[in-house]
Amino acid sequence: MKSPGEVISFMNEEFRCLKRSDLISALTNNLPLDTIRFGCQTVALNLDPQTSHSIVHLHDGTMIKAEVVIGCDGVNSVLADWLGLKTARQLPLCAVRGFTNYPNGHGFSNEFVRMRRNHSALGITPVDDKLVHWYVPRLWTPQDLRISKEAKLIRDSTVESIREDYPADMIEMIRNCDLESLSLQRLRYRPPWEILLGNFSKGTVTVAGDAMHVMGPFVGQGGSSALEDAVVLARCLGREIGGSSSSKREEEVEVIIQAKRVRKAFDQYIKERTMRILRLSTESYLTGLLMQSSFSVMKFMILMLLLILFPNFFSHTRYDCGLL
Ligand SMILES: Cc1cc2nc3c(=O)[nH]c(=O)nc-3n(C[C@H](O)[C@H](O)[C@H](O)COP(=O)(O)OP(=O)(O)OC[C@H]3O[C@@H](n4cnc5c(N)ncnc54)[C@H](O)[C@@H]3O)c2cc1C
Repeated sequence: MKSPGEVISFMNEEFRCLKRSDLISALTNNLPLDTIRFGCQTVALNLDPQTSHSIVHLHDGTMIKAEVVIGCDGVNSVLADWLGLKTARQLPLCAVRGFTNYPNGHGFSNEFVRMRRNHSALGITPVDDKLVHWYVPRLWTPQDLRISKEAKLIRDSTVESIREDYPADMIEMIRNCDLESLSLQRLRYRPPWEILLGNFSKGTVTVAGDAMHVMGPFVGQGGSSALEDAVVLARCLGREIGGSSSSKREEEVEVIIQAKRVRKAFDQYIKERTMRILRLSTESYLTGLLMQSSFSVMKFMILMLLLILFPNFFSHTRYDCGLL
């Protein structure tokens, strides 16, 4: 068997690997029926000049009048664009991710393992006894645009890119992956200074998750911090608009008061999230720079900066965003 080169096992840290569909089911199962509509793509947003309500335009021409809009529409967010945030920047890297099912059990220990050999890397995290999640980061090439559209091409190009360097069981894992789970994505990020200076809300519109703070996956906290956003945002909104109004005011006055409360909740949310996201995106940004830099002086300087700012590599995982 070929040697896997540098192998890092994060055995002492707790890792939880979730399938996106399971996470979505867990979240949606707790919502009243008909709360969610699938298959609706937001294409634009504008404000009703009379009421200042948002009007969300969907791809099929439908318009939704909304008192509150929270854009969780990912890295190419229409809402972030509407707020005037800059388009997320591209890294010269991409990552292939997939799941492989082993009907008779995979035999891997329950830990996150990252291997590096020559210029390629491979990460593995078991989800349960039979399912394994793996990823292969690599340099982005113009052909990847075409490859990313076809699962078989993603699989074959990934096998090809690591075939020489990794043991046969790892190659088999990729060859036998679930094609539907495969993705090849160019890595994108919002740099830390844009987090610090960005305007993340306007009136009763705000953003959360990647739409707000997409970061390279180098510290593995993008999805986790999106969930934190949700908890903090729900808490801020609950505090400001949770109680029902006691007085019988005219509807118009009530709408204005509610809008003011939402704005206040959004201000609190952004204030509470900024430092956390700034730290994560700085750590991720510097780690990404370190990986890309080929000059040893530069590498040394970035490493020093990382050690000074983030002396404990795992401290970001111990953050507590509080209760709902
Ligand atoms: C290679 C890689 C590895 C990663 N590893 C980790 C990790 O180990 N741990 C971790 O925590 N995070 C990780 N992440 C980051 C994580 O995947 C993201 O941060 C997370 O998915 C962000 O969630 P989101 O809901 O904000 O955006 P997304 O997951 O992108 O979801 C956005 C949703 O909005 C929908 N949408 C998009 N546009 C529109 C529109 N116009 N109208 C309506 N809907 C729209 C999309 O269909 C999608 O359902 C990784 C990312 C990458 C690329």
